[in-house]
Amino acid sequence: GQCAAVCPVGAIHEKDDTDRVWSAIHDTNKHVIVQVAPAIRVSLGEELNLSFGSIVTGKLIAALKMLGFTKVFDTNFTADLTIIEEGHELIDRIKKGDTLPMFTSCCPGWINYVEQKHPDMFKHLSTCKSPQQMFGALAKSYYSQRENIKPEDIYVVSIMPCTAKKYEAQRTEMSVNGIDPDVDAVLTTRELAKMIKQMGIDFNSLREMRFDKPDEVTSGAAAIFGATGGVMEAALRTVIEILDEKPLDSIEFDKVRGMGGIKEAGVTIKGETIKVAVAQTLSNAEILIQQVKAGTSPYTFIEIMACPGGCVGGGGQPYGTTHQVSIERIHAIYQVDRLTSIRKSHDNAAVSNLYEHYLGAPHSEKAHHLLHTHYTNRKIL
Ligand code: SF4
Repeated sequence: GQCAAVCPVGAIHEKDDTDRVWSAIHDTNKHVIVQVAPAIRVSLGEELNLSFGSIVTGKLIAALKMLGFTKVFDTNFTADLTIIEEGHELIDRIKKGDTLPMFTSCCPGWINYVEQKHPDMFKHLSTCKSPQQMFGALAKSYYSQRENIKPEDIYVVSIMPCTAKKYEAQRTEMSVNGIDPDVDAVLTTRELAKMIKQMGIDFNSLREMRFDKPDEVTSGAAAIFGATGGVMEAALRTVIEILDEKPLDSIEFDKVRGMGGIKEAGVTIKGETIKVAVAQTLSNAEILIQQVKAGTSPYTFIEIMACPGGCVGGGGQPYGTTHQVSIERIHAIYQVDRLTSIRKSHDNAAVSNLYEHYLGAPHSEKAHHLLHTHYTNRKIL
């Protein structure tokens, strides 16, 4: 269906994990926690008889608690963390004159493509793990220590818009101990809807709840990760402010928004203009790769999302995701951003607190060990 059309790499790995998750929930020896990606809160409602683009964050949390998850966390928290790590990586590369352009690394459909088709591009990829995997790594280290629960007794579930995330979670390159997955199971939007229906939950009448701490503090910058251009905009809000050492005049970057295949923008930092680009779908990504190979790429930073519209159009989203449906979900995502009081990742005090009490500083040894990864040549001859 839709998935095979837009998400060829992820589709191969599509399998139903709901039984595995039910078993973990019913296993009294397991501490089962769940994280929810930014794009789920604007699409799940459609599977449960609500209109396209409904924002269902509070009811979604309540439903997950009813299903039996002990803690419900927000992937937006580690999306903010991703922006801090990736933003500092970009700043470092600019200052040191290292390899540019730098490409984002949070979309496994894109990462699979580079590993299979363009291993010579690895040095252009950010080394940051995706928000899903940063969450998993922190769950099996920081959270495990804080709660005094052995990592092997913590079972981490993700709700993702994406079938390729199931594969990403299994990669040993993503594992803190190099063996066991940090994220134990990944459910798509469709699979979560199925579990809610299996339980007979009347979703619409649920009382809204909040995410568990510290993930109840997240920024609007993290919320927009689910739309094409969102990671770029979130990064710009942070990188420009750090380099310019003063608040941005305007935090909305309209040029990187919308359904264009390749979008570009010029931004001025310390009096110098740099160019950035955003591509959705791999055929557009290929155009930008060829520019880099030819030495003609004018860009400093490039965001790539494999799915049309970004994660709102992911292969794990409700069936029947049309162009128009993606646009409705994108509208909802920017509304979440506007309604959030903190709109920049570096203003998230809970993230700063995590650095202060656990990680040290961006790119510290601990941050590198937990939050960064490497890539593997899987070239198909
Ligand atoms: Fe998954 Fe989002 Fe990438 Fe699509 S764009 S493959 S949903 S991470």
